[in-house]
Amino acid sequence: MLLLVDNETIIELAVLVGGEDAGRIMKLLLKKPGITDEELSRSLQIEVREVRRILHKLNEQGILHYELTRDKETGHRIFKWYVGQEQVIGYIITNMNKILDRLRERIEYERSHQFYWCGSQGHPKLVFEDAVEKLFRCPTCGKPLQPHDNSELIQALEWKIEQISKYLEQLEKVRKVEVEQGEARKPAGKKG
Ligand SMILES: [Zn+2]
Repeated sequence: MLLLVDNETIIELAVLVGGEDAGRIMKLLLKKPGITDEELSRSLQIEVREVRRILHKLNEQGILHYELTRDKETGHRIFKWYVGQEQVIGYIITNMNKILDRLRERIEYERSHQFYWCGSQGHPKLVFEDAVEKLFRCPTCGKPLQPHDNSELIQALEWKIEQISKYLEQLEKVRKVEVEQGEARKPAGKKG
């Protein structure tokens, strides 16, 4: 399963969802599946309440799941946490599709407009209507605006879209194989 989605990616994903501490928690979870919130708290020196908050956040996103057991002596509930590898792939696929949509909108916008620019980094590139309104002067520095060739940006966007599409295709394939193997592994005639 993790041939394509390596641990680094999963940790980055956790940081995106829950911040730096979520990344540290994820790193330890990958190393020790089934670790409890209290063990995580002790090992990482993060307050247990904060650990639980982060775990539940990751759980809401479907990246983690837990197993509930009881302490035989005290009867207290114990949560053992695991990384849901298959869910991680699902999560990445969903988010990458969102990124792809945004990139496609952007490239469409770049292709269908002529831009005007003064040539200074960080100054705005204006579409024709806006450039007319500013009398073809840069609103930041006042220098004249020139037609700007955005074909390099379009090429870069095309490349990015192609890369993500390929990666997504591979992920979908892996997920499909995993699901099929999972089905095959289930013993016949038994449920649960
Ligand atoms: Zn300017």
